[in-house]
This record gives sequence, structure tokens and C-alpha cells, in this order.
Amino acid sequence: MAKKDIDWSNIGFGYIKTDKRYVSNYKNGAWDEGTLTTDDTVTISECACVLQYAQTVFEGLKAYTTEDGRVVCFRPDLNAERMLDSTERLKMPQFPKERFVEAVKEVVKANVDYVPPYGSGATLYIRPYMFGSNAVIGVKPAEEYQFRVFCTPVGPYFKGGVKPITIRVSDFDRAAPHGSGHIKAGLNYAMSLYAIVDAHEKGFDENMYLDAATRTKVEETGGANFLFVTKDKKVVTPKSNSILPSITRRSLMTVAKDYLGLDVEEREVMFDEIGDFVECGLCGTAAVISPVGCVNDHGKEIIFKNGHEEMGPVIKELRDTLTGIQMGHIKAPEGWICEIDV
Ligand SMILES: *Cc1c(COP(=O)(O)O)cnc(C)c1O
Repeated sequence: MAKKDIDWSNIGFGYIKTDKRYVSNYKNGAWDEGTLTTDDTVTISECACVLQYAQTVFEGLKAYTTEDGRVVCFRPDLNAERMLDSTERLKMPQFPKERFVEAVKEVVKANVDYVPPYGSGATLYIRPYMFGSNAVIGVKPAEEYQFRVFCTPVGPYFKGGVKPITIRVSDFDRAAPHGSGHIKAGLNYAMSLYAIVDAHEKGFDENMYLDAATRTKVEETGGANFLFVTKDKKVVTPKSNSILPSITRRSLMTVAKDYLGLDVEEREVMFDEIGDFVECGLCGTAAVISPVGCVNDHGKEIIFKNGHEEMGPVIKELRDTLTGIQMGHIKAPEGWICEIDV
């Protein structure tokens, strides 16, 4: 076995087909035993519930090569648990946690030649997902489902250095109170497409969504949670029932507290107060943290003074520590690193 001939440092965040993927089907109230397959296509009814009523949920995590040459992934048990919450909310069957983690490991192992080498900045992105597959025309949950896991190598998120991004306050809402904002469902992304294309057309990198009920509190962007840093180095993250609980954000809060000895706080963050913060970052699997330099509120700019020109010092330390844990040069908390026996 040999690594694929890929220019690791120059691939983007796109889909590259790999050799094997995992598939399990649910029928008559039970999951089958599941298998790896070379077939990268899905054949379903034209009337499948996922196609008509968007009954689908997904997860995203990464595998990478550590400094000492091991292949690992980061906290896959939390992705498994989050998918249980997502499927429950969309009346889909539960895919057992142990089987989810096993499927992720099997897929990485079967595609080990696509795991980018240490130091390339690239990683193997893993996408578990589930969808309602049988024909449904009257609105109700499907009776048959497919769970799949595929992987694709992705390039370094920040090519040629990190530059803080500019985001705008969106006039669209992401998630209603008591809606589906807290689950990882494709439907939350479908309805964000208009807003993100519009943001890009107007020269902004992302949308900042406020709470839909009052438009006074900070929620998140289309696919990443916020962290803010006060001038006294306290790390603050918004609390809301309509935010997707980012595993990266939860891990960074632990890193801030236990590794960097910083005060941390999860609480409601009023939009009016964000000018008091000195750094801001967006947390998610793809980038770990992307620094935000400026928020544009309908033409009025709010600048984070310690993180405007380049990544702020606290955000940088958080990022370096978490990536150090992931890459194996900083000791990880118990259970964070899942080694794949390749
Ligand atoms: C996936 C996702 C995140 C980031 O979660 P991670 O587990 O850190 O990758 C944040 N917000 C939304 C809306 C998401 O879908």
C-alpha cells in the first residue's frame, strides 16, 4: 500500500472520490449488518422521502496523520451522539453509537492511502449521513433508511497564511426558537444558501445570524459557532437552544479552561455588546478556528481590535493548542483521540 499521488498541499475543499465507503440499510424496523462498498452511487425511488421532504441528517469529522505517524480521528463518539439527537428530531431510526464509530474507523482504514501525510496541512474529511429512502408522498417519516459514511481528502483550510475574515449581520434568520437549528440537518443548509450567496456577492465571507425572535442576540454563522474574547482574556460563547452544538467549540472551551487557565463563559451574548470584545473566532471542524476581524452591521463596522490585522493572541493560542492535541504533540484529554489501527 502506498499513499495516493495527490498534491496534498494544493487540494481545496472539494469532493475527491476515494476507494471505499460504508453502507447500512434500515428496513422492517432493523439495520442490516452493513458493509464496505466500492459503489459511490445511490439508487433510490424518485419519490424517496429525502428527495421530497428533506429527511436527512449528516455529520462531519476528520482523520489525520500525527507527528509520530499514527492515523487518528477526533472525538467521533460526540459525532455519533449528535447524530442520535438529529435523527430523533426528524423521526429517523437511531444508528447505534458503537456502530457509528466502528463504521468511521472502517472507512478510514479502507482508504488509508488517502489520509494526508503529517505536515501537509491536508486532512481526510469524513462524512457520515442518513436519509429516508423509500417512497413517501403523504407527509410522514420514511420506513426505510440508508446510513452511509464516505471520506474525501481536503486541503489546508488556510492557504498562504490566515487572514481575519469580515462577516455581515444577516437579515435572514437561520433557525426559529423550538425549530431545527440545534440538529445537523441538510434542511438548515438548504435555506442558508440564498443568504450565503448574497453575502459573497456583496463581498462578505459569512453571515452572522441573530436570534430569530428578537434579533438582539448573537447565534452563529451558517456552519460555525462563535467564540469571543474579552479584554481580560475571558472566552465567551453564545448560549442558545437554536445553535448547533459544535464539537470544536466545546473542545476549545475545555482547552481554554484546562490548558490555558482562562475563564470561560457560555451565556447569551447581546449583539449590542460585541464591540466590547477584542477578538472573535468561528469554530468548526473545517477550520478549527477562523479569526473574524470585523462585523458589518448594515454599513456600520464593528472591529475586534486585537484580531483585526491578524489572528488575535488568544484565538491563536487556542488554535495552536487544539491542533497540537489533534496532531499528537500535546497530551490529549482522556478519550479525545481515537486511534485507527491501520
Ligand atoms: C457542523 C456545524 C458546526 C460546527 O460543528 P463541529 O462539530 O465543530 O464541526 C457549527 N454550526 C453548524 C450550523 C453546523 O452545522
